[in-house]
Amino acid sequence: MESKLLWIRGLSKSYRALQAVSVFDAEIEAGRIYGLIGTNGAGKTTVLNLISGLDKPSSGRIEFEGRDITGMSPEKITRRGIARTFQNLRIFSTMTVLDNVMVAAQIDRRYNLLEAALSTRGYREGDRVQRKRALEYLDIFNLADLASSSAKSLPYGYQRKLEIARALATGAKLVLLDEPAAGMNGQESAELMEIIVKMRDTLGLTVILIEHDMKVVMGICEYIYVMAFGEIIDQGLPGEIVKSRRVIEAYLGGGGKNA
Ligand code: ATP
Repeated sequence: MESKLLWIRGLSKSYRALQAVSVFDAEIEAGRIYGLIGTNGAGKTTVLNLISGLDKPSSGRIEFEGRDITGMSPEKITRRGIARTFQNLRIFSTMTVLDNVMVAAQIDRRYNLLEAALSTRGYREGDRVQRKRALEYLDIFNLADLASSSAKSLPYGYQRKLEIARALATGAKLVLLDEPAAGMNGQESAELMEIIVKMRDTLGLTVILIEHDMKVVMGICEYIYVMAFGEIIDQGLPGEIVKSRRVIEAYLGGGGKNA
């Protein structure tokens, strides 16, 4: 039994001849912000896919809150409290901002179709609580004023924030963010950094983020794992990582497809 929130040992994934992740070990403590960085094709997204159940590991073990979640379905893993966002936006563009978050919050809710169809008192009360909670999440992301706007009408940076708000609304304790600042301008990514820290501070969340924007990584991550060619080549505090010879060589010396 491990006391870490997330505990990963010997994780690997191969696609036919390609070893996308060879050996990945990590210990993630609750309430901290972690960075997962590395050159293109290093295996970072594959690691998030394995943790969130979108892909099954070839070998290794993943424990969340001391329980084995290796190879579980994404739905079960979300119910356990792990949510994620993707490199490419995944929001319901024709729905309102509020409904996007409400739909995600449904995962926590227990009612049957008859209750919903009859709109029983219990159902309505559940709906009210869920709406209130959804608005609280939107507030963290400075999106509450836009609750009734359609998601597709939002500027891109706002849509990315909405995607993260949706991930939280599942009741997540651990949030995996795949390049949350991608496509954002400097002002948007500065606001995003503040929000991620606020998420951790107000909700006690744990965050693992993949990010190429080093300003974001060095600005908010408390511990960093660095990958190249499917392996962790270094890990440590941001101040250690910027000075790491192995990391500098990997980034400058062609440690990935587009390094
Ligand atoms: P990037 O920073 O470019 O997003 P990454 O570090 O996230 O890269 P991954 O997307 O995890 O890297 O990919 C690692 C390797 O595995 C790459 O060579 C990629 O082409 C390969 N790969 C990923 N998913 C699959 C798949 N479903 N089938 C075959 N190969 C895959």
